[in-house]
Amino acid sequence: MSRSSHASKFAAPKRLPDGRLPLIGCNIDEITEFLAPHNVPSYRAKQIYHWIYQRGVTTFEAMSNVPKDLRASLDQEFSLARPEVARHQKSNDGTQKWLLKMPDGQLVEIVYIPEETRGTLCISSQVGCTLTCKFCHTGTQKLVRNLGAAEMLHQIMFARDMLDEWPKDGQPDRTLTNVVLMGMGEPLYNYENIRDAMRIAMDPDGLAISKRRITLSTSGVVPQIIQCGEELGLKLAVSLHAPNDALRSEIMPINNKYPINDLLNACAGYPDISEHNRVTFEYVMLDGVNDSIENAKELTQILKRLPSKVNIIPFNPWPGAEYTCTPMPRIKEFAKILERAGIPAPIRKTRGEDILAACGQLKTDSERAPR
Ligand code: SAH
Ligand code: SF4
Repeated sequence: MSRSSHASKFAAPKRLPDGRLPLIGCNIDEITEFLAPHNVPSYRAKQIYHWIYQRGVTTFEAMSNVPKDLRASLDQEFSLARPEVARHQKSNDGTQKWLLKMPDGQLVEIVYIPEETRGTLCISSQVGCTLTCKFCHTGTQKLVRNLGAAEMLHQIMFARDMLDEWPKDGQPDRTLTNVVLMGMGEPLYNYENIRDAMRIAMDPDGLAISKRRITLSTSGVVPQIIQCGEELGLKLAVSLHAPNDALRSEIMPINNKYPINDLLNACAGYPDISEHNRVTFEYVMLDGVNDSIENAKELTQILKRLPSKVNIIPFNPWPGAEYTCTPMPRIKEFAKILERAGIPAPIRKTRGEDILAACGQLKTDSERAPR
């Protein structure tokens, strides 16, 4: 299937079931265009944009400097409604997971991970995933559809609602400081929507989250890694998980399309990569599969060619998984080999495991309806 027919087959619905258009997800030009038939001065679009993304209002009624009759007619045509919460869970370690119901009933999970110096929100880019990495729970759920730009912004804006982080008077200290595109789905298989959403997320007049605080994790879609570098420059994390093509293709079928050499070339060319701003590679520890001393040495060899860092992720189990996690002493040994070769290799602390909110454990019951 070509990229464009794939995009339309799996597209998010444009309108709500009641016929209104969600205004969230629209940039300033689109809002200006929508307002044109209302014959209002152009500064109104800026005001409305500010109310939506800087103040987080969920009704037109709350836009106190917009004329009352305009507010009422906007309400007829457009919506600012947030997704519904289908389930909310809180882990013993403070991690929270919400299952959000989109207007067409599709379910998407988001996870908020509070830490001492920052708070990270993990958002999803697709319902399900096209890819079938063998160690990943999401990979067992067929792609239902892509999320629209609006739905990705909704996930962040909903979290700000829950954490009460919209500025009232002046800028509060935010606890939600970082966003990671590491939830359900392969973000670079839904690149155009990611791009539209992240432009608004990064806009200082929009959600105002710095691009250095947004990380996109990909299984390695080479052409869009290059495009994302040129157009967005977000922080890049690449799911590597194996040091050679034979092993990587076995656990990540996408490697047959974009083998390691092409992938590392794309990473080496990513903008602003330096010793201080390394490409992050993710490496899940699968007992007896990719965790030998030999594997670690091979990894140091292939990563020599670019400034890199390896996030070592203990495998998170899920019902029906065919792998187990490498025991911790061996994970530490593996990390030490990388560190000795000058590659930082932090071992990621697993969060939210008791509520199946950890990496690779997200999956919803949504299924693709026959069309
Ligand atoms: N599709 C993207 C982003 C979502 S997955 C990607 O593959 O990068 C986020 C991270 O969790 C990826 O590094 C993924 O490989 C990892 N992951 C998947 N299943 C896992 C599991 N069961 N345990 C630990 N990490 C897992
Ligand atoms: Fe999809 Fe990422 Fe899971 Fe692979 S690891 S199946 S790309 S979500």
